[in-house]
Amino acid sequence: MAPAIIRAGSLPQERRIPLLQKLSRILREIISVPDMPQVASRPAGILVACLLLATLSSGSTFPGVMPPPGSSDGHVLRQVVITLDDLPKTMGEESLGSATMVTDATLAALSKHEVPALGFVIGNKVFIKNEVDARLDLLRRWVAAGHELGNHSFSHPSFQKMGLIPYEDDVLRGDLAPRLIMAETERPVRYFRHPYNQTGPSSEVKAEFRAFMAARGTIIAPFTVEHADYLYNLLWVKAREIGDEKQAERIRAAYMAHLDTAFDFAEELALDTFGDPIPQVFLIHTNDINARSLDAILTRLEDRGYRFISMDQAMKHPAYATPDTYVGGNGISWLHRWRYSLDLPDRLRQEPDPPGWIIKAWRAAQQQAEGD
Ligand SMILES: [Zn+2]
Repeated sequence: MAPAIIRAGSLPQERRIPLLQKLSRILREIISVPDMPQVASRPAGILVACLLLATLSSGSTFPGVMPPPGSSDGHVLRQVVITLDDLPKTMGEESLGSATMVTDATLAALSKHEVPALGFVIGNKVFIKNEVDARLDLLRRWVAAGHELGNHSFSHPSFQKMGLIPYEDDVLRGDLAPRLIMAETERPVRYFRHPYNQTGPSSEVKAEFRAFMAARGTIIAPFTVEHADYLYNLLWVKAREIGDEKQAERIRAAYMAHLDTAFDFAEELALDTFGDPIPQVFLIHTNDINARSLDAILTRLEDRGYRFISMDQAMKHPAYATPDTYVGGNGISWLHRWRYSLDLPDRLRQEPDPPGWIIKAWRAAQQQAEGD
């Protein structure tokens, strides 16, 4: 059932006035005052020019960018940003209890591995009747643990299917929940991630939306690696629902194996594109399989030589100034988009898929859902 959107009337009177005052102040800020003028006025053209110059002057390697330092045992140290989408909890079982369990497990794993994560909030997963305060508290815990919150829209619409103006409206509404919580520590919401990573149905609309966000000091968040976590999550949850723990563990083992396959490919693709092991941005969701597996995922990434950094740190790498000129409905990684912009051969078809039996089970589950 679609969550009911909160209305002022469903809040207790004493909570209503301060919350509404806060919301209206925030709305005014969104509409009139860009809160990060230094980002809004960032001379993107200069950055792009630097990037192209660097690329031209050195083959494909960036001058001045140090290769990742080796540890004492000669192991390469790599950098990755951990980003989680669909806070407080992604589609599926979304009760407050389930969202709390996922938040507990996710924050525990992030804290254990000292990860400065970036979480993207969906507004209508927060503004649910009678649960607004509790769900805002879940977001508050992310910020209290040192993480950053970004906007992931209000209703997770498809930019391919929704016009620019209603899409912008949805994005502004989505800004409210993360902004409310970030403002408590006097920090702005700096990042927006497109639902489905659909960045615009045409070059013109894409440029208009980018300007709209830049005027508000908001950066469109890229990602460079993901490993189909939503797909494994659905199958894993289904197996557990019917009590098939053996199958659930088989799915989870395949999921962990796919993590390595996906990172092998992203690392090689970054090298092939930029001649440099750029910081990666990893995209996963706040879901059940990750609540169970995030500790193991982060350990596996540490074993691969990764150090966890913030989105700010990653985006200082010149590769991130490469324009994204891809227009299409597929939410492809920025490595593919950058290759497209740099006129390099398309390697999208080489992106590793989950194993055949997982795809088959996923398709069957999809068909079953359509038949229900
Ligand atoms: Zn999403």
